[in-house]
Amino acid sequence: MTNKYDVVVIGAGPAGYVAAIRCAQLGLKTACVEKWHDDKKNAVYGGTCLNVGCIPSKALLDSSHKYIEAKEDFTSHGISVKDVAMDVPAMIARKAKIVGQLTQGVKSLFTANKVEGIAGLGKLLAGKKVQVTKHDGSTEILEADNVIIAAGSVPINIPPTPLDNDTIVDSTGALEFSSVPKRLGVIGAGVIGLELGSVWSRLGSEVTVLEAMDTFLPAVDTQISKEAFKILTKQGLNIKLGAKVTGSKINKGKAKTVTVTYTDQNGEQEAVFDKLIVAVGRRPLTENLLDANTGVELDKRGFIVVDDSCATAVPGVWAAGDCVRGPMLAHKGMEEGVMVAERIVGKKTQVNYSLVPFVIYTHPEIAWVGKTEQQLKEEGREYSVGNFPFSINGRAMAANATEGMVKIIADAKTDRILGCHIIGASAADLVQQMVIAMEFSASAEDIGLTMFSHPALSEAIHEAALAVNGHAVHMANKRKR
Ligand code: FAD
Ligand code: AMP
Repeated sequence: MTNKYDVVVIGAGPAGYVAAIRCAQLGLKTACVEKWHDDKKNAVYGGTCLNVGCIPSKALLDSSHKYIEAKEDFTSHGISVKDVAMDVPAMIARKAKIVGQLTQGVKSLFTANKVEGIAGLGKLLAGKKVQVTKHDGSTEILEADNVIIAAGSVPINIPPTPLDNDTIVDSTGALEFSSVPKRLGVIGAGVIGLELGSVWSRLGSEVTVLEAMDTFLPAVDTQISKEAFKILTKQGLNIKLGAKVTGSKINKGKAKTVTVTYTDQNGEQEAVFDKLIVAVGRRPLTENLLDANTGVELDKRGFIVVDDSCATAVPGVWAAGDCVRGPMLAHKGMEEGVMVAERIVGKKTQVNYSLVPFVIYTHPEIAWVGKTEQQLKEEGREYSVGNFPFSINGRAMAANATEGMVKIIADAKTDRILGCHIIGASAADLVQQMVIAMEFSASAEDIGLTMFSHPALSEAIHEAALAVNGHAVHMANKRKR
């Protein structure tokens, strides 16, 4: 049987479901093929983000943060709590409920927008056809004027640490521990490793993070990454840099453990853990996705080759999200999904790839947009910097959230803001103000002339912007003008 659509989307993660909804809003007859399914073989929408990524990890980060606050922070407010205890299965069940609500929400949005959800595995065939292998083994061919591939990504596995999905797990397994491991190893000090390491460390695990590189968070502005290293280490994360994992052995005793071997500057080392999380990055999920003669190309790392507008070399075939170049972030994929849908109907929508916000949801959060100081130095560009620490922000003091700072970098001549780097409570939400400002080409002076509510954490942005030109009011300025 062949069905004809204006648009067929493969994958219902943030890139795919947003693309499908926007296509339908624009009047296109749209189907979205998704392989993720529940016990009854019904499609589950939302992809990595809603099922095993952004949302469940944030649910556990929020639960574990509340636990540590109750244990360590409440007394400073005069609140005494006795016998603070963590019910891990209850925390995991709460997370599952949130995931269920949101994935169900995407299903409702498909219904409301008349997107046809199709359960099964999609494969692109030549001539803008999509073969769907249903969960009962039957196949169906869909024909479309446009195909959008949004197949996403999966965790990378490395040969030294094959997963047994019990003692050695990837990020998905780390969202499902039924109790707090006493000794937890994490391979990779990237975003996912630090977030998941933080969850279990707050709940009582002794966490060791093994990171092959000598530099901590190299993509982050150095001043902020140094601060982050200090704070996270103080919280109990034992972050070993220059530690390359070379092997592992599962020890089967009363309770299984894993012995990990790694090399560092002192030679070969060993460590024993009760659980090991492998968080060494993600790869595009593009194997068996394209039939031989589709004309759509993959690069060496398996990403679908697209141009700035997410078009492949084949007219009418597009790709978006984690399966194409660029940062693997849900919001980047969503914007690409919208762009592709609008380009299909002839609009000239573009994604501003220079203003993708990045967030690491540790506590404090780390968030940034635009250029780091080290990038600007490499480019030989002249710039001015304004910093403001949360330790002297009134609202931060009231909230016991005095760690961290806001750093704003502006062009030395034009004053145009080039980057904003924040480590502090609510950094994810705070940095968004600067994404908007930078989208409108704001200068540091523009932010300085904007009125900010008092008292608020965002006043640190105001003061950092003023400090760029030596005009900060609530601290002594390094530069005077
Ligand atoms: P995916 O979300 O991977 O969705 C792809 C979908 O396509 C899946 O549902 C898959 O089943 C389906 N699919 C694949 N192949 C086929 C096929 N052949 N046929 C049918 N269906 C198919 N990003 C953030 O921005 N913020 C965060 O805080 C954040 N936290 C994260 C935490 C963790 C633990 C992880 C693992 C990731 C996190 N991410 C975060 C990354 C984010 O989840 C991804 O960038 C995002 O989900 C990518 O969206 P996507 O639509 O491209 O792909
Ligand atoms: P990210 O790509 O941000 O998720 O980070 C993954 C991290 O894992 C990177 O910083 C890698 O350097 C690190 N990594 C990859 N392989 C190994 C390994 N064998 N041992 C230790 N760290 C590793």
